[in-house]
This record gives sequence, C-alpha cells and structure tokens, in this order.
Amino acid sequence: MARTRERGWPPAPDALPVPVVDNHTHLDSVVEWVADGWEPGAPAGTTTIAQHLERAAAVGVTRMVQVGCDLDAVHWTDEVVRAHPQLLGAVAIHPNEAVLHAGVREIAPDELEPDPQPRHATQLDDAIDTVMSIARANPRIRAIGETGLDYFRAGPQGRAVQRDAFRAHVALAKELGLALQIHDRDAHDDVVDVLLNDGAPERTVFHCFSGGPDLARIAREQGWYASFAGPVSFGANDELRAALGELPPELVLVETDAPYLTVHPFRGRPNAPYLLPGTVRTVAEVTGRDLEAVCTQIARNSEAVYGPW
Ligand SMILES: [Zn+2]
Repeated sequence: MARTRERGWPPAPDALPVPVVDNHTHLDSVVEWVADGWEPGAPAGTTTIAQHLERAAAVGVTRMVQVGCDLDAVHWTDEVVRAHPQLLGAVAIHPNEAVLHAGVREIAPDELEPDPQPRHATQLDDAIDTVMSIARANPRIRAIGETGLDYFRAGPQGRAVQRDAFRAHVALAKELGLALQIHDRDAHDDVVDVLLNDGAPERTVFHCFSGGPDLARIAREQGWYASFAGPVSFGANDELRAALGELPPELVLVETDAPYLTVHPFRGRPNAPYLLPGTVRTVAEVTGRDLEAVCTQIARNSEAVYGPW
C-alpha cells in the first residue's frame, strides 16, 4: 500500500443531483488500514467513520451497506450499523475466509502463500453459525454477503469448501428472508449453477458485477441485481459496459467496494464511499440516461433490495 499512501485520497467529486446508496463498502478496512488521513502526510488509520459518512453525504452518497465478511468484521459491522443511521449491514464468511477456516492451505492461481489469522482457528461451521446469530438478532443487518466462489484465490480443495460455504449462505439468506450479496471471481458458471440448483433468494445481488453480456442476460431473466463498481469506468472493460447495457434499469445498483477498485481516473488510490459519484456518472453515460433519473432509480432499487432505512 506504500504507493497509495504516497498519493493519498482523491479530491471530492461534484455532488450528485439526487442522493444515492453505496450498496457495498468495507468501512472497517477503510478506517483501519487504508492510507493516510484527509490531510496529506497524516498518519495511517486516522480517518473516522463519521468523517467518511460526512464526506460521502456532501456529494450525495447519503446511505451505505457496510459489508463485514470476515469473523472480526462481522462483529464490527454488527456494532457500527447500530450506531450510524446511514448504515445497514451485510455479514458473511467470504469465500477466501471460508477456505482458511476449513484448514485448507494450498497455493491457488494467485500464487500467494495462505496467510491464516488468529480468527481462522474457529471452525467454519462455527463461523457461519456466528453470522447466523448476528444476522438474526440485528434488524439492521439486511443481507448475507459477500459469499460465493473465488476461483482466482482458491485451488481444488478450496473450491470445494467455497461451494459448500456458498450453499450454506444461500440457505441462510432464504431462511432469514434477507438479500444475498454474491462474490463471483472467475466462477460465473458455477455461481449460476448453485443459484439455479438450490434456488436463489428472492433478492440476489452480484456484487462488483464482473460478467459480460451473457451473464447479464441470465441475471435479467432471473431478476437478479447487478451492482457496478469502479471497474465499469476502466478503459479496457468494454464487456462490462456491454453487460450494463443488457440490464433493465430496475436491476442496476452501484457500489464502491472500498477500499479497493477506485473509479477512473483515481485507480490505485484509496477508495471510500465519497468517490461513488464517478461510477454513477459512468452508468448514466453508458446507458445514455439522464443522471438525475439514474440516481433516483438507484435509490429506489436499493430500497427494493434492502428495505427502507
Ligand atoms: Zn467487497
């Protein structure tokens, strides 16, 4: 992260004409380890949640879904969504976390060494049970996620674990009547396979949608939502923009997935909810729709998925 620290937070964009929702962000990571404070040269970890909420609201990002998808972040999310009315929560054991809880230590296509943390001493079933009890007890947790399949970060053993964990989370979302947020990396066919075989929850969202027009058409047929993040603005991603063009406006959501995937032209610099307007403007450009209409639709879709807040 040395490079992002040097370059610091991007400037705030112009405000959107109508408030929107960042339906997938990781404020735990944003405040704990990303880059510097607002002022250049301030030490790492010195921004606060209140500052991020304020800065986002100033540009029309008034509400967010905070995603806690490792066991520590699940507990953090449970608390923080009670303290800030702008936030709802999503909780799950991320597919790459599930692999570590299951004791798998293999090298995947990413070629990284497994890096287990103290929390991974908890058995996978127990970790998912914790997700269930927190989601059941806190009415501000409105989604199970992110869960799914990550074939870039998992080898054969890991993939089997991820599939079981994904299926358990799908069942949990249905049991609790919550939305589902899916992480799908290099695994479109198998994600769709699980959803069709097990039956998708009524409100299913492909977080950081990464498919092409084919996956978009399946989503359209099934009524699944696609949430677009910074990559929709990256030059090389024509397939992603073509996918966006296949979707009806009522199935499109937006997100930052902060602290990653910062929208063009700030790629590689730290991300936070106040940078969502760049992605919203890209959606308006790609679909040839009026910015105000896009914002209004995004806000409406977000409430359709997560309920009012
Ligand atoms: Zn995420």
